[in-house]
Amino acid sequence: MSRDPLDGIDLALLGARIRHVRQARGMTLATLSRHIDRAPSLLSQIENGKREPRLALLDSIARVLEVPIKELLKQQAPSERSALELELKAMQDSPIASRFAIPGVHVGPRLPTDALRALVEAYRSLRSETEMSEQTSEAARAANLRLRNEMRDRNNYLPDIETLAADINAAIGHDDGPLPQSGVIDIASHFGFAIVRLPDLPNSSRSITDLRSRRIYISTAARAERDPRMVILRALGDQALGFDAPRSFEDFLRQRLSSNYFAAAVLMPEKTLVPRLREAMNSQDLAMSDLRDAYSVGYEAACQRFTNLATEHLGMPCHFLRVGQDGVMYKAYANDGIELNRNPEGSIEGQRACRQFGVRRAFAATDYLGPYYQYTDTPTGSYFSVSRIEALPEGDFSICVGVPFDQAGCFRGRETANRFGSTCPDTSCCRTPNDGLQHRWASFARPSPKVHSHMLAAIAPGTFPGVEDREVYEFLERHAGDAFEH
Ligand SMILES: [Zn+2]
Repeated sequence: MSRDPLDGIDLALLGARIRHVRQARGMTLATLSRHIDRAPSLLSQIENGKREPRLALLDSIARVLEVPIKELLKQQAPSERSALELELKAMQDSPIASRFAIPGVHVGPRLPTDALRALVEAYRSLRSETEMSEQTSEAARAANLRLRNEMRDRNNYLPDIETLAADINAAIGHDDGPLPQSGVIDIASHFGFAIVRLPDLPNSSRSITDLRSRRIYISTAARAERDPRMVILRALGDQALGFDAPRSFEDFLRQRLSSNYFAAAVLMPEKTLVPRLREAMNSQDLAMSDLRDAYSVGYEAACQRFTNLATEHLGMPCHFLRVGQDGVMYKAYANDGIELNRNPEGSIEGQRACRQFGVRRAFAATDYLGPYYQYTDTPTGSYFSVSRIEALPEGDFSICVGVPFDQAGCFRGRETANRFGSTCPDTSCCRTPNDGLQHRWASFARPSPKVHSHMLAAIAPGTFPGVEDREVYEFLERHAGDAFEH
């Protein structure tokens, strides 16, 4: 049985397409209804998307209008005007209209196109404002989870962005090794942007791009960033990837991920990194610190970049963790089947990593800042991991890359004797105290927690979460007229 072509069809769109063709043929509603032998009121309902035509009727309409039926069923508005009309109608029927008690207007030919466009634009802003402010941290976590699952399914590899980064490196003649500051400036010029360093950049932003004067402002303050190249490349990534203002929190996360990916792919080009990784694998000497040194990037950036290419090019599944001293996982990626502790919704970030994992044991290692190697036996298999503590202004973090046991042979540190067992997510592994302790201490212990306020706070509303628009606009206004030497 073939599928009914009217299944799942957008009736408003179908109606708009019928009306568009009819009017283009200079035919009135009355004439068309006479030809198809139906009441004009029925035809009007169909054109207004209030009624679904039978396929036979649609067929006669198409015949009279001398147009293939396929043409009428296309899922796109027949013109810009019609798209705006459809969008406004849908918005007027949406909860936004009732919530703000916005009176409806009649959407017909007498509504001027500029007024129509203004109304649609106003509705769009209102909707995005509302959606943004409704992003509770729970919804934010859900969005993050969807994105992470999607990246796992893609092995953390985004070929389109790799190609874009390769083209840009080729355009500025950067081939291998650390990308110098001047190379970043060249990339900025390639996109028609100048880089301006200023001391008064608002605290909430890493960079601010002024699309009018085509400047990217970054901070001169020492606190700002470990790697200013990364900051500029991220901002350029937004341009290279053609991003508009994010429409939702999920959209924001997606854009941020893509721009970060772009920056890493420019700094650590696939073309030279993959052969380097293969060579290290063959000589059984893979080490993240070598990548860091080869491209002069941060250790964490090198580890994350490794996860982009490991599965795609080396056939190696892997995991990456960034864990605080409190054991909380702030960043996590895994496609190697390792079981990470999750909350009931499935979120990993914000949960504690198993205490038996190398990423946490690294904090207790005698060589605190050296690499800490470990084998861990878990219910889903054994893994080898390399962890390293990064001392940052916001605290110490353990950064870990791990692979399944049978891949350990390629890594520096594989001969380590550190080996521990984990039965997490079984809570008796390292989370519930054993009975004796529970009994002796439960009624006598009263710790005062160091609460991370950022974990409790809802995402601050705004187009760019956490950024104060007023502060940003005031900054741009302040410097709009400045002349800078480049
Ligand atoms: Zn555990």
